[in-house]
Amino acid sequence: STPGGPRVKREKILVTVRLRPLSKKEQSLKDQVAWECVDDHTVVLKQFSHDRTNSSAQYTFDKVFGPTCPSDIVYEEGAKEVALSSLRGINGTIFAYGQTSSGKTYTMRGITERAVNDIYKHIENTPAREYIIKISAMEIYNEVVKDMLKPDSGPLRLLDDPEKGTIAEKLEEQIVKDIAHLRHLIGICEAQRQVGETSLNDASSRSHQIIRLMIESSLKESSGCVNSYMANLNLVDLAGSERASQTNVEGSRLKEGCHINLSLLTLTTVIRKLSDGKRSGHVPYRQSKLTRILQPSLGGNARTAIVCTLSPALSHVEQSRITLSFASCAK
Ligand code: ADP
Ligand code: MG
Repeated sequence: STPGGPRVKREKILVTVRLRPLSKKEQSLKDQVAWECVDDHTVVLKQFSHDRTNSSAQYTFDKVFGPTCPSDIVYEEGAKEVALSSLRGINGTIFAYGQTSSGKTYTMRGITERAVNDIYKHIENTPAREYIIKISAMEIYNEVVKDMLKPDSGPLRLLDDPEKGTIAEKLEEQIVKDIAHLRHLIGICEAQRQVGETSLNDASSRSHQIIRLMIESSLKESSGCVNSYMANLNLVDLAGSERASQTNVEGSRLKEGCHINLSLLTLTTVIRKLSDGKRSGHVPYRQSKLTRILQPSLGGNARTAIVCTLSPALSHVEQSRITLSFASCAK
């Protein structure tokens, strides 16, 4: 028996790393590729003749996806098991974490599309069960929560419900009719983030977007035993990780105006604590809006996957190192 409370089986967080290709712009600026995936598990920093520190760096993960790796593989190996768990009543959260322009939005769109397809494939193949799918979507910007399905509405208050935990008051929840309807609703959310080019001062680099699918099911012919499932799957496109680093990175494009993002900072602390595995220690979920909202879908018996996205560019090497050290702590 475990002193001090019930034992909670804590699943390991699935942590993967995805390296994007060098962009056209980076190529035209003669930026260089600084990172190399030497196998499916290892990413290394290349050596450059002018590298004064001469420090080599190598990082190992369950999975590392190189610049030509298709989104199908990233989904299959970095997110699918968490997405499918939600069909069996297990809450899940899938994040993309990385600096602005490293590929978070690109990656989350790929994952979301494939998760939606898989969920509907599963429903089609499970005629004995009746499914109800609902969707809600939130954006957190400067610790203000907004409803992405009702863009003109004001800030949402977070309330503590004795049964449901933290809920966003008046958050729109739409019942999804079919896969086409779900794709349409997700498209509405995504369109809002498409405004403008990705730049460090763009709102999308400072805000977090949460698309939440609520998946309920029950056996059509009740046999009297426990036969209903209910879980949330959260698909989260985070603010740029440069908002979580307290050190001022020398020589990078990041200078002033890089305000620390409380939700992102708290999330990294929560993830570190959870992956620490120790039962002791307070997990500071309550310290930010993002972690309050996600609490039931993090830790406990929830499943979590984090795809850490990496720019290959030499000019981004310091932020990439910070991302990789976060990824190492999270695994
Ligand atoms: P972020 O959301 O982290 O700011 P984006 O997802 O907007 O970054 O990606 C920045 C740019 O790089 C976009 O033009 C995107 O299409 C491109 N990109 C990102 N990841 C990949 C990838 N794995 N393969 C090809 N292009 C990518
Ligand atoms: Mg983005």
